[in-house]
Amino acid sequence: MQNKIGNKSFIDKTLNDNKLYAKKKFGQNFLKDQNILSKIVEAAELDKDTLVIEIGPGLGSLTERLCESAGFVLAYEIDTDLIPILNDNLKEHDNFIIINKDILEVDINKDLEEYESKYNKIILVANLPYYITTPIILGMLEKTKKIKKYVMMIQLEVADRICGKPKTKDYNALSIAIGYRASAHKNFNVPRTVFIPEPNVDSAVITLDLYENPKYIAKNEELFFKLIRESFNQRRKTLINNLSNTYSKDLITKMLNDFNIKPNVRSEELDIKTFVDFSNYILENGGEK
Ligand code: SAM
Repeated sequence: MQNKIGNKSFIDKTLNDNKLYAKKKFGQNFLKDQNILSKIVEAAELDKDTLVIEIGPGLGSLTERLCESAGFVLAYEIDTDLIPILNDNLKEHDNFIIINKDILEVDINKDLEEYESKYNKIILVANLPYYITTPIILGMLEKTKKIKKYVMMIQLEVADRICGKPKTKDYNALSIAIGYRASAHKNFNVPRTVFIPEPNVDSAVITLDLYENPKYIAKNEELFFKLIRESFNQRRKTLINNLSNTYSKDLITKMLNDFNIKPNVRSEELDIKTFVDFSNYILENGGEK
């Protein structure tokens, strides 16, 4: 499908006409490839009963596709200069709103109240700004349970980490933090050449399907998230050494023994359930030192 916005000449002309340039500080890399846009929208499996949240619409190339396929699009754009341009670029559509806010500052549940009752599911679709990918994803997962699925273009390396499985080099605290709430999979890789300007890294589109009922329950989620961050503090170190600044070495040694796990285990050898069990054990056996 050929659309108006996501191509090189339209992006160049829009920036030129408005005397604008892609702002590095906002991670602006505009997608110019219609085929990639189609594949993102396909992965999101949208219909007119879907409410879409988009982060960083930019010049509107993805937003245009989302308006065509979804019921309504609620898009957050931090760059005030882009707001009139977006409204103009998307003027053929009447099922979107552009909110000029930093997504990290948004009260998403409150914003959704106005729109959610008319739609039967809420999906996040975005080509994310790479400088704040992790805070955006972790922040949204923490702030709201209303979004059932996330389809996001992110930096390839981060995509591999999020989808990383135990005992692989990609598996880390981020894989566990996200895997606690969702199943993650990579849809496809995206070369850097499809953006204006071209970034220094390649990208990938990933999907997170949120668990309806959590697979494991950490009784104190704050403790759980802190535990996984600290467990992966230094990859070369054993779990005991990574954790011994915060928790007593005796507690961690006893915990490994009680779980029948070797004392020199490294964090990347342990699955999500084990970290949840550890956090519940630590909670019940004394917590931090
Ligand atoms: N969606 C467009 C595309 O695919 O061509 C632009 C994607 S560009 C990688 C990221 C977009 O996120 C930019 O438009 C940028 O201004 C916006 N952005 C950056 N930081 C943001 C923030 N904290 N909150 C909302 N939008 C942000």
